[in-house]
Amino acid sequence: MEYVPREPDHSVNVSKEHPLVEAGTLVIGLGIIFAVIAAALIFLIEIALFFVPAEKEAQMFSYWLPEDITTVAYDDPRLLKTDEILQRLARHYPESPYEFRVEIDNSPQLNAMAFPGGLIVVTSGLIDKVDTENELAFVLGHEIGHYRNRDHLRAMGRGLVFSLMLLVISGDDSANYGATIADLTLKGASRRQESDADLFGLELVQSEYGHVAGSWRFFERIAETEDDEFLDLLDYTATHPSPDDRIETIIEIANRNNWPVEGAVTPIDWGPAE
Ligand SMILES: [Zn+2]
Repeated sequence: MEYVPREPDHSVNVSKEHPLVEAGTLVIGLGIIFAVIAAALIFLIEIALFFVPAEKEAQMFSYWLPEDITTVAYDDPRLLKTDEILQRLARHYPESPYEFRVEIDNSPQLNAMAFPGGLIVVTSGLIDKVDTENELAFVLGHEIGHYRNRDHLRAMGRGLVFSLMLLVISGDDSANYGATIADLTLKGASRRQESDADLFGLELVQSEYGHVAGSWRFFERIAETEDDEFLDLLDYTATHPSPDDRIETIIEIANRNNWPVEGAVTPIDWGPAE
């Protein structure tokens, strides 16, 4: 019998699944793979934190400065005063493995960040909006609080992981790659870490001033402002809880600990005018 080749029908290369279902499966599959990799990397950060004790970290980063900040002059009165307040607060945390230092980043944005090794960076935008020592002391105290649980490294690691993921997904190594260290550090502090840092920061303020009056005034001004230009500069609220929540937290912590919410606030004196 003569062999008659059969024409293939046109369905051989067509999957039995609906194309949308296939696409969906692919996206979910990739999503799971990414989630697993992200979780593994975050777990590695925890391991690294375990093997690099805070003392070692403080040593490794003792002179380190993030590349993307523009510091003010070393004798800028704002820097000297901020450092003085920071050192006074740090005295109430004598067991700290860090030697805290501060730099002021010349930027109109309002922000404060904790970097590896005990370096706290505050923007000049924030410094210029601060009215009293007590306000600034709380902002600084909060950042010191992050070092106690080493949140700053966790947040930074997590930020790094997510930026890498984004890079892989978008395949774009130019546009979104400007994920600077500063950006990385900001992401990822959880609500719990934030409220722990608030508690410790407020405790430092209480120890230094004998009351916590005025420490929330900065947040009140942020909450009250309707100045859009000012609101655009508020990086601080993108990386910290909302001002209203902060005020509530502070009052609540103070009441719980019987820390006076009234007392004489210390006007800020930026030192001799140039
Ligand atoms: Zn924080």
